[in-house]
Amino acid sequence: MNVENKLKLSQKTFDTWKSVPFKDKQKLLKKLAKVLDRNAEQFGKLITKEMNKPITQSVAEIKKCALMVRYYADAENILKSEQIKTEFRISEIHYIPKGVILGVMPWNFPFWQAIRFAVPAILAGNTVVMKHASICFGSGNAIEKIFLEAGFPKGVFQNLEIGHAEVKKVLEHPIVKGVSLTGSEKAGAEVAAIAGKNIKKSLLELGGSDAFIVLDDADFASAAEAGAKSRLLNCGQACNAAKRFIIQKNVEKEFLSLFIQEYQKFVAGDPLKKKTNMAGMARPDLADELEQQYNKALKNGAEIILPLQRISENEFVPGLIKVKAGNSILQEELFGPLGMVMIAKDDQQTIKLANNIPFGLSDSVWTKDKKRQQFYIDHLESGTVSINKATSSDPRLPFGGAKSSGYGTELSMVALREFVNVRTVVGK
Ligand code: NAP
Repeated sequence: MNVENKLKLSQKTFDTWKSVPFKDKQKLLKKLAKVLDRNAEQFGKLITKEMNKPITQSVAEIKKCALMVRYYADAENILKSEQIKTEFRISEIHYIPKGVILGVMPWNFPFWQAIRFAVPAILAGNTVVMKHASICFGSGNAIEKIFLEAGFPKGVFQNLEIGHAEVKKVLEHPIVKGVSLTGSEKAGAEVAAIAGKNIKKSLLELGGSDAFIVLDDADFASAAEAGAKSRLLNCGQACNAAKRFIIQKNVEKEFLSLFIQEYQKFVAGDPLKKKTNMAGMARPDLADELEQQYNKALKNGAEIILPLQRISENEFVPGLIKVKAGNSILQEELFGPLGMVMIAKDDQQTIKLANNIPFGLSDSVWTKDKKRQQFYIDHLESGTVSINKATSSDPRLPFGGAKSSGYGTELSMVALREFVNVRTVVGK
């Protein structure tokens, strides 16, 4: 079916789907979760084949999707009409689904990102068309099939096999009423500009360069283990990975020696083998880009703690560099197995370093002191602040960025209200 016909089908399905009771939609979500669980190994292999994620992490991604779908299958209906007390006989808030919503999704979590966007939008009564990353069309088609297998009407979720140059035409189409994009700042800015020009809602989940802050009273062993994992899982290709490790000066040596030990446990291997904890990057051009950023950082004065070593067209021995404020690399996202270490003398300087970037996705702070925890909660400029744990998204909790990391919220109950119009009904 061509794109035009897919959009027409999406609109036709929306006309009936919007009136299906919330509870009935949730019954279908329960079936969707079962299909995901039942096929976790098969879909995991598909992810690994398409973008190189180690198989245990790919299978875990599918299981996490099932968990998220179950969360929405059991969620309270916060979209039913609300009565508001006024002097009028009728005064109500109604939540009306917008219609056909376009998703533009990245390759780094091919199932998670797509399902994270689609499920709350669909439960709210919308229908969805998705443009997946060009290396993940297999995942996109598999997700379309899963919705059908779970019993959703044809047209509730459709995958569009299009390149990014065609997104503009789809988003400008009168049938499409909004867009959710997860990806780079550049793609987000371009897509949001088209949405704005056409007065359509946009939601952006973009990049990050999150701080992982280790204070002098932290549990260093736990922080070292969590920090290495957070930087290197999925070969460092996660928006909310720890990318800048800000360590307090008086514990630099003690923490770094533990951290390096944990870091060196990540070794590139065959992504289909269960023992592999890290594989190659998703595409060779992304490895080229990371290498260029590494060289640029060194040219601007960064010091090598562990050298970034390229061992094949897309595999690396992970690198770690010490970077001082003022190095322009700090304004960029490093989307691969390269971490940055910064040293701060006190809490004031730590906050300054942490916030002095364009992004604001999800910082993590390690300290046992409740007062200091509160200080960081109050002063960090990010969508999530995690205390004594690395950031990881959780279906029950909102996920979204501040500053150039985007706007809008995914996950939790908040996401259910992203693609609805709020209608006021008032009368005597
Ligand atoms: P990307 O290059 O921006 O691609 C993301 C999606 O946007 C793909 O489907 C891509 O299609 C499409 N696209 C690219 N340029 C476009 C344009 N000018 N107009 C319309 N669509 C366009 O990003 P990526 O390399 O796949 O993903 C990595 C980025 O995503 C990182 O910055 C990461 O931090 C961010 N990310 C953020 C989150 C979050 O929740 N905040 C989660 C995951 C990833 P093609 O593949 O056809 O180019």
